[in-house]
Amino acid sequence: MTNGCSHIPEDLAPPTVTADGCEDCLAAGNRDWVHLRFCQICGRVGCCDNSPGRHATAHFNSDGHALLRSFEPGEEWWWCYVDEIGFEIPGAPPTPSY
Ligand SMILES: [Zn+2]
Ligand SMILES: [Zn+2]
Ligand SMILES: [Zn+2]
Repeated sequence: MTNGCSHIPEDLAPPTVTADGCEDCLAAGNRDWVHLRFCQICGRVGCCDNSPGRHATAHFNSDGHALLRSFEPGEEWWWCYVDEIGFEIPGAPPTPSY
């Protein structure tokens, strides 16, 4: 692996998706997110920084889960908050759906 991130699980197995939208927004009764991100540590779905809630970043700040993937259909990129790099992993299992 040459992308500079040390947080990637060796087997690349995606965690189980825990909701069909941003959990924090859904808990507040909102569905006004712009894009969804998918935590690769615990499977939590959170909204992106263009969304009002910015819950994906909030999840990293509160729980320290650094590695996420896009939860948008057709998007395969990953992002690491600690290393501050985005990358793709050719051959990684696709993001599961809820
Ligand atoms: Zn990393
Ligand atoms: Zn949200
Ligand atoms: Zn998480």
